[in-house]
Formats: sequence, structure tokens, C-alpha cells
Amino acid sequence: MKIENDKVVQFNYKLSDANDKVLEESGEKVPMAYLHGHKNLLPALEREMEGKQAGDQFSAILEPSEAYGEIRPDQEQRIPVKHLQGAKKWKKGMVGVVQTEKGRRQVTVVKVGKFMVTVDFNHPFAGKTLKFDVEIVDVRDATNEEIAHGHAHGVGGHHH
Ligand SMILES: [Zn+2]
Repeated sequence: MKIENDKVVQFNYKLSDANDKVLEESGEKVPMAYLHGHKNLLPALEREMEGKQAGDQFSAILEPSEAYGEIRPDQEQRIPVKHLQGAKKWKKGMVGVVQTEKGRRQVTVVKVGKFMVTVDFNHPFAGKTLKFDVEIVDVRDATNEEIAHGHAHGVGGHHH
């Protein structure tokens, strides 16, 4: 079965930067699952998925403009350290989560003070050329419920 709109795809992936440093990897036992054609992946990666089937392996290189954009200046902000979620102790370079009016945002710690912390609101992968090594594990028809929700259920997908 080939990947096209309204198929649920399970895949393993390794994400590296231009220096082959691994940034992210899917779990060994649980592949990622997503619903194709519903903007659940970066559009450039989803395009590469189109037409592939179980067992296929490929690499895709995404320029920053196809991934998380260029690094924008003036994205640093001082916030109360209690607003930063994800760890108890913070160090420069760590990635945390901040609740904003536009939802959850990943931020990178720039400077830690006693009560305030300076964070950079650029996405941690902004400015990076990303290389995805992908292995397609399974392709199946989505259920009506999955199509209505716009995401995959079950192994590697949403549980609710
Ligand atoms: Zn759902």
C-alpha cells in the first residue's frame, strides 16, 4: 500500500544536523505514526513520504526555510524562572517549554538568574539544515474517526 492522503503511516526516523549530530530519534520499539495529508509533518518531509510503502528507506535534507525557519534576532526575553517548564535546574543551552498566548513554545535558555531567566524564543532547530533518515514501517487506511480528528490513533499516535 502506497502513502497517500488519509493513510496512517508508521515510520522510524533519525534527525541530524548538517554536522551529522543526531538531534532526535524515534523510539526503537515504538515508531512514530501520523495521518498523511493533514499537515502533521513538515510539508517538505510529507512530500517526500508521498508514494512510499512499508520497507522503503530514504533520506531527506531540508533547508531551514523548509524546516523551522531562519534564526530571527530579538527573540530573547527575560521571564520568571517559575514560568519555564521541563526541568528543576536550568543551565545555558537547555530547552524548556513556556506557555504563551499562542500555545506552548519551545525555548532555549540563554542565561539563568535567581528568579529570572533569559530565554530565546527561536525554535531550537531554527537556522539548521535538517537531515531525516526515514524507514517506513507500515501503511494502512485511516479510520473515519482518525480522518475526522486529523491525526493517527493507536501505536505511535494520539491516545485519548
Ligand atoms: Zn483523535
